Amino acid sequence: VRRVRDIGEFALIDALARFVPSSSLVIKGIGDDCAVLRMGDRVMLVSTDMFVEEVHFLRSHAAPEQIGWKAAAAGLSDIAAMGGMPLFGLVSLSAPADEQVSFLESMYQGISAAFAAQGAVLVGGDTTRSPDRLVLDIVAIGEAISGRYCTRAGARPGDLLAVTGYPGQSAAGLHAIQNKMDAPQLVERHYHPNPRVREAQWLVAQGGLHALIDVSDGLVQDTGHLARAAGLGAQIERKKLPVAAALTEFGKKHGLQPHPFILTGGEDYELALALDPVRADNILEGFAGEFEIPLTVVGEFSDKWQEVRVDGEKVPRSGYDHFRA
Ligand code: ADP
Ligand code: MG
Repeated sequence: VRRVRDIGEFALIDALARFVPSSSLVIKGIGDDCAVLRMGDRVMLVSTDMFVEEVHFLRSHAAPEQIGWKAAAAGLSDIAAMGGMPLFGLVSLSAPADEQVSFLESMYQGISAAFAAQGAVLVGGDTTRSPDRLVLDIVAIGEAISGRYCTRAGARPGDLLAVTGYPGQSAAGLHAIQNKMDAPQLVERHYHPNPRVREAQWLVAQGGLHALIDVSDGLVQDTGHLARAAGLGAQIERKKLPVAAALTEFGKKHGLQPHPFILTGGEDYELALALDPVRADNILEGFAGEFEIPLTVVGEFSDKWQEVRVDGEKVPRSGYDHFRA
């Protein structure tokens, strides 16, 4: 008997995808951050993300507003990962019968605040009883402005790999929470990620953006998604990685290297992208003038190999898989 733990999350999705028929209204189905759907002359973006108590969050660690914000941010980030504008959200909730109403109200405030911060609104959902653990599913619906969006596929050999902000802080924040270390800024990054919606819209409007993804599973793994979608390999250079001051300080204090957090830590919801090298200087300069967070070139794509390398060395697929240890 083949169990899901034997094949892992990604092979499971591939196996299920065989039962999904195609349609002329579907521009992109399974395989990208959002489904891309034709609605007359407009292009709709849809994503759904599920959160399960004890898998994605622990009540003992996170406040209900934080659980809500973080879950909503994941869905909004999938709209950002296509360069779209979030418009609507649907929230499905499965809760045990003895759940405190006030807990769910606070969680909803967090969800609603995250959508409101992007100018999007909640329009419905579903509510059921759960035998024990809380389960939350958030659907994010957005639009590709003027029909423009960017997929995971499209990197070309020689394209530069760039990343927004300072990834790794969320994972370091989680490490701090789990080990009762004092690192308020990193913990804040873990509970309160800001999906890069405006940044992505700006990037999509520039010529020279070839591929885009949000960093939800770790920089190496999500770069791997960009590389695989283009049939290429990618190289990341450690010395180019942007290291947040808070992460440097945290590493020094506790004798931890910042790079593993940056390379394999998930849930920052930064963007990773492939840039045309000819347009890159212009884009980097424009981005610096437009936004507070940095856009940093950390590597490149190549057709000379197929996997993700860090400083020339192959790295095993590292990052999150729901069914593997
Ligand atoms: P993300 O991390 O950006 O939310 P996922 O890794 O969860 O993306 O999903 C990758 C792709 O697989 C997406 O296009 C998603 O819609 C699709 N997918 C995931 N689970 C299922 C499923 N059970 N049925 C159909 N498509 C799925
Ligand atoms: Mg995504």
